[in-house]
Amino acid sequence: MLNKKDNQKLYPVDPTVPPGSIGILNGRVIDPVNGTDDRLCVAVDKGTIVSIAPELPSGFTPDTTIDAAGKWVVPGLMDMHVHLREPGREDRETIETGTRAASAGGFTAVACMPNTNPVLDEESKIRYVVQRGEPCTCRIYPIGSITKGLEGKELSPFGEMVRAGARGVSDDGKSVISSMLMKNALNYSKSFDIPVICHCEDSDLTKGAHMNESAVSTRLGMRGIPSISEEIMVARDIMLAEYTGARIHIAHVSTAGSVRIIREAKARGVNITCETCPHYFTLIDEDLIPAFDTYKKMNPPLRTAHDRDVLLEGIADGTIDIIASDHAPHVSEDKKDVEFEAASFGVIGLETSLGVVLTYLIGKKVIDPHRLVERMSCVPNRILGLSGGTLSRGADADITVIDPDARWKVDPNCMYSKSRNTAFDGFELQGYASCTISQGRIVYERGAA
Ligand SMILES: [Zn+2]
Repeated sequence: MLNKKDNQKLYPVDPTVPPGSIGILNGRVIDPVNGTDDRLCVAVDKGTIVSIAPELPSGFTPDTTIDAAGKWVVPGLMDMHVHLREPGREDRETIETGTRAASAGGFTAVACMPNTNPVLDEESKIRYVVQRGEPCTCRIYPIGSITKGLEGKELSPFGEMVRAGARGVSDDGKSVISSMLMKNALNYSKSFDIPVICHCEDSDLTKGAHMNESAVSTRLGMRGIPSISEEIMVARDIMLAEYTGARIHIAHVSTAGSVRIIREAKARGVNITCETCPHYFTLIDEDLIPAFDTYKKMNPPLRTAHDRDVLLEGIADGTIDIIASDHAPHVSEDKKDVEFEAASFGVIGLETSLGVVLTYLIGKKVIDPHRLVERMSCVPNRILGLSGGTLSRGADADITVIDPDARWKVDPNCMYSKSRNTAFDGFELQGYASCTISQGRIVYERGAA
């Protein structure tokens, strides 16, 4: 056992020992891909799902059994927007600690963004991340940069990055300001059938601003980040996608206007997907008062109650395709022990994402459990062109067991991430991953004595 925190157990992966057999008994098996929603037993052997039926196969004696009565058994969750900080800022997070946090959050796969130091903008750097991820408790799919060094000047070599394992491209952290370069990137991406993941921000409109532009920023006397700084780029990138026929995915949607623009584009048949993050559909700019909590400083910023409500509508009607955490670890010197204006943008989220979704989307009946599995497993896998996100017989055994009734309080000191900058410190949540199975191995358990 790696370590134990707050009734949690995390197990290391020894790649030299092949995975054994597991029987998951009597859980509510939810697999939208196969239309499954039933009380069933799942048999796993040597890393593969071998049976899903009312009973385990006769003669199958698993090495380990999991009693999943009262729990949901779902395809392993995937978070397609995380920052693992390696290479370059291993003091904030590493591939190893970030994947432990992912396993503890119920994720069996993550896609990591390229804004590391150096930037993931060529074959060797993509290969480095893939190799570092191999012995980890969770699958890692690197995203390459759109432009070399994220400088917005010259395209990165998409082909060689894809060959090395990149599953998409993004200059996350900023927009590609030149429409010409973005158009070329979209055309180039089509040859490899990869999504271009768009961080939508007109940086002229956001310069020197640290929170949402609204009545609240006016009252606090702070320069604001206006909604249109996001919406202008959402609209431009949709127009470029429509023009080129390329596939785009819009990251961290935070405004009502973005939801409207995306909804209209989808109705026209534009080939786009998008995500929002747990903090945008739970918290608002007013939550910054009176404490100026730097742990609620992110980019895009927390918006208004109206934006939050429209995001919830977008999640309910499917305009918003997936939930991603935008897990962004920061150390105290950059985040906690500084004034609001000097603090870095970003919050961690891998270990709270599922609990927040269960509490605020399932608990408040915004979506049902099927939609949760789609938005956190099936669809992100589909967007990145991966085979995961299903419990089909013969599929790789990436499985998350969810206890929807467990009540818990978010305690940053019980987290596996190297950083502590959560926006949900002290929140009372309902539901968590009680067991995470990665490639046929139990890597994480919670709730058992
Ligand atoms: Zn990000």
